[in-house]
Amino acid sequence: MSQPATYKAELVGAFGHPIAENPTIVMQEAAFHALNLNWRYLTIEVYPQDLAAAMQGLRAMNFQGINLTIPHKVEVLKYLDEVAPDAALIGAVNTVRRVGDQLVGENTDGKGFLRALQDIPIDPRGKKVIILGAGGAAKAIGVELALAGAGHIIIVNRSSERGQELVDALNTKTRTPARFVEWVSTYALPANADLVVNATSIGLFPDVNAQPDVAYDTITANMIVCDVIPNPPHTPFLQEAERRGAKTLDGLGMLVYQGAIAFKMWTGQDAPIEVMYRALQEVFG
Ligand code: NDP
Repeated sequence: MSQPATYKAELVGAFGHPIAENPTIVMQEAAFHALNLNWRYLTIEVYPQDLAAAMQGLRAMNFQGINLTIPHKVEVLKYLDEVAPDAALIGAVNTVRRVGDQLVGENTDGKGFLRALQDIPIDPRGKKVIILGAGGAAKAIGVELALAGAGHIIIVNRSSERGQELVDALNTKTRTPARFVEWVSTYALPANADLVVNATSIGLFPDVNAQPDVAYDTITANMIVCDVIPNPPHTPFLQEAERRGAKTLDGLGMLVYQGAIAFKMWTGQDAPIEVMYRALQEVFG
């Protein structure tokens, strides 16, 4: 029996400012197309003072969900009915999903990172972790690694206030002990580190030759070295690590997986990872 026609697409998208260069639409639309879903991903410029109205519009137009990017990831917490425990711990939401008439906040950044680790494969349980940075990406990764049972986390950050705040949250709200190191000069990695993550914005396009100030001769072949920078994915930081025999993980995998997790939250279907990965690879040349 034929189905009645429906001309109504389900809507998701991203709110941000600036937003024009955010490539998420490319991987999400490729995924909808591959699974023959009548869904649309809209890239929407929302100025900071308009977030309340935009969230109201989201409810009024029955969006299935939304991604939040700079500068809305923290501010959006005010407009949600519920926040997932890990997102509450991170203190930021990058994905909203609708459950009935309720808007639920999630954070898929750190989950995407954990999922990317499985491809190496590496189990974070008991691992000694060094995270460079204490911004949004570092918080999401730190919290998810701690919740996944990391053995110990050192946060290395230039601003001590931000770094100490993340360490305090990890020490008081997770079972993983954490320590803060102020990043004032070249950072020497402890020899027993298992996992090293650049979660700063150093190396992001257009500043593609920049690299974190670490003592590169302290990287060993026993370490797994990761970068959150998705564009370009093969950063000078990862190249230095490869030269010293370390296994590496780039930021493209994390970006694809955080999107794939959001896709599943919205549509209920498993995301076509390969399709999404290829779509983003084309964008980043
Ligand atoms: P934030 O602005 O919240 O944090 C930036 C961090 O980088 C801070 O810890 C900041 O230190 C540090 N930093 C920046 N420049 C320097 C420098 N020159 N020297 C030392 N430290 C520096 O940004 P986000 O955490 O949101 O994003 C960080 C990166 O992660 C971005 O490049 C983004 O593209 C990427 N990202 C990737 C994702 C993925 O899926 N692959 C997902 C989310 C983000 P301080 O606190 O001292 O200012």
